[in-house]
Amino acid sequence: MKAHSLKELFIEELRDLYDAENQLTKALPKMAEGSSSPELREAFEEHLEQTRNHVSRLEKVFAGLGEKPKAEKCKGMEGLIKEGSELLKEDDFDSEVKDAAIIGAAQKVEHYEIAGYGTVRTFAELLGEDEAVSLLEETLEEEKETDQKLTELADQINVEASEVEDAESEDIEGEELEADQQTAKRGRTSRKRPAA
Ligand code: FE
Repeated sequence: MKAHSLKELFIEELRDLYDAENQLTKALPKMAEGSSSPELREAFEEHLEQTRNHVSRLEKVFAGLGEKPKAEKCKGMEGLIKEGSELLKEDDFDSEVKDAAIIGAAQKVEHYEIAGYGTVRTFAELLGEDEAVSLLEETLEEEKETDQKLTELADQINVEASEVEDAESEDIEGEELEADQQTAKRGRTSRKRPAA
């Protein structure tokens, strides 16, 4: 990134965000598809619509600055999405645990975007780019709302995920006890894990 002035840095950061948002429009449908909770899936679908709008708002910001919308590879978002897609491939998680993991990955994305939009909004203020300030502020607010919504969903889903773990370890303990009793009775081990 070569930027000699704040204005150039501002434009570079906008290009980075433009690429980040475009990457997200491709990742969000996969996150929705990988979610078991209908509320979580709905939240991702809703955020996909918002994200498409974030892309067009950035195009308006570019237009207002007399710049063509140009994307510059956002390696930060690429890394976050890569981590998220590795989670989506996991097939030995219980559904609630997987949802909890997906929420964690999605919140990392939101926090990254909140930092990015907070930065460009401040640059726009310093540069007196009022139209850009209000457009970027609108998106920043939506990112914060999404993060908040994910926190609320996590409050519910993380509890369900922790209950899954408890129930499973109780099951195993129960089976072990039963197996020990059988071993004692029949002199052989008969311990089976239930099919996942
Ligand atoms: Fe966004």
